[in-house]
Amino acid sequence: MDAKTEKSNLIAGETGDWEVVIGMEVHAQVTSNAKLFSGARTEFGGEPNAHVSLVDAAMPGMLPVINEACVAQAVRTGLGLKAEINLSSVFDRKNYFYPDLPQGYQISQYKNPIVGEGEVIVDLLSGERVVVGIERLHLEQDAGKSLHDQHPQNSYVDLNRSGVALMEIVSKPDLRSSEQAKAYVSKLRTILRYLGTCDGNMEEGSLRADVNVSVRRPGDGFGTRCEIKNVNSIRFIGQAIEYEARRQIEIIEDGGTIDQETRLFDAKTGETRSMRSKEEAHDYRYFPDPDLLPLELTQDFVDEIAGSLPELPDEKRARFIADYGLTPYDADVLVSERESVDYFEDVAKGRDAKQAANWVINELFGRLNKEGLAIDDSPISSAQLGGIVDLIKAGTISGKIAKDVFDIVWTEGGDPAEIVEKRGMKQVTDTRAIEKAVDEVMAANPDKVAQAKEKPAVAGWFVGQVMKATGGKASPQAVNALLKSKLGLE
Ligand code: ADP
Ligand code: MG
Repeated sequence: MDAKTEKSNLIAGETGDWEVVIGMEVHAQVTSNAKLFSGARTEFGGEPNAHVSLVDAAMPGMLPVINEACVAQAVRTGLGLKAEINLSSVFDRKNYFYPDLPQGYQISQYKNPIVGEGEVIVDLLSGERVVVGIERLHLEQDAGKSLHDQHPQNSYVDLNRSGVALMEIVSKPDLRSSEQAKAYVSKLRTILRYLGTCDGNMEEGSLRADVNVSVRRPGDGFGTRCEIKNVNSIRFIGQAIEYEARRQIEIIEDGGTIDQETRLFDAKTGETRSMRSKEEAHDYRYFPDPDLLPLELTQDFVDEIAGSLPELPDEKRARFIADYGLTPYDADVLVSERESVDYFEDVAKGRDAKQAANWVINELFGRLNKEGLAIDDSPISSAQLGGIVDLIKAGTISGKIAKDVFDIVWTEGGDPAEIVEKRGMKQVTDTRAIEKAVDEVMAANPDKVAQAKEKPAVAGWFVGQVMKATGGKASPQAVNALLKSKLGLE
């Protein structure tokens, strides 16, 4: 077993344990206003063939012109993946026929991609950490789309996507379970979103994965893999791997061998099925595109982009743990979405970060989840939540009352301090008022008073009664101190 193998990741077959090996080719649509080699728009939706230039439609004599913004996005992504940036790279033609590919080839990068080796650190909920090697990242064109459901006899072609820039991010075969593979894609998506280089929207097809799966006996060399094409949700990636690993194990255990092939995942049945036998690179007759010069970047161009990178999730996570004392779990929850982390950092600014994290994760995220809302739709702004945390810190309200204030702000809006003032929710720190409540409870329960003298734990019951009598507004510290002295427990 290699270092990446954990016993818990093994799959039990009829004849012993198996290990699944996974490598991913993720296609990420570059965030850019215009396509990779034309000025046509890239936005999702729109009438079919509304965003198509003569270049995208491959009219004779049209010439591609590289979009510098897309190149910058690829470099930015490479830097975010801690990868080597190749100052010189080449665009090649990958030749194949498809009705939605009017050029008859895709412009891609083959032997000389713009980005070389890098890595992605993946932390799982179980605490397991996997460092996934990145093999390469290259730029390529997306194809159009065939529409088969518009007419009883004819198929139509929509070229809106034709020529849109994609980054293909190829991982090494470093993943060893469906959980790891799902966490890898989530992490990659988070990094891309922090960088602003891909919106990561899997429903709209901005991010999709080809999943390569093989199985082997722990310790053996790699087995023959199958590639499952175009899986477009994280849940489906997990299901496809589980199904495919089982399928391969059964074949081998029955004495068969795996044919290297390209397969499709059927979301309705949860199964994968054969699409075609695996094509080899030479089937595509790759050659450098004579319409495009080699892409030469200056180190200055790269350095300028490097200087503009935001703080990335791994760095934020480490800082939250080291400086704020957050648990790795809480740090992971906060950094996983850029919008969440921005919100949290607003609340934490100038306040107790641990307390801010508790309110954001437990109260806010809890409530958002329950109501199926995204952080951007939160009825409570970071300033309002910060205001609640301030009131607790100042001793104006207890943590318990704070939850009521949270509830009011959630449903009615408003400034927390004003709400507390207007509705008389302030904590009672006036000892005379609390003392009165303590005396009344003690006078009404002489038996409990006697018990408390024997068994100091009974004092807890008194705390509850006094809090009830004061509508939850008494300062718990003051109540405790008074009870201790009055019950003679000091
Ligand atoms: P190709 O160019 O034919 O698609 P690559 O060598 O570039 O092949 O690999 C494509 C993907 O397949 C990579 O993500 C890689 O990690 C993965 N891969 C390679 N070998 C295996 C294997 N034996 N099992 C699972 N995945 C693999
Ligand atoms: Mg491939």
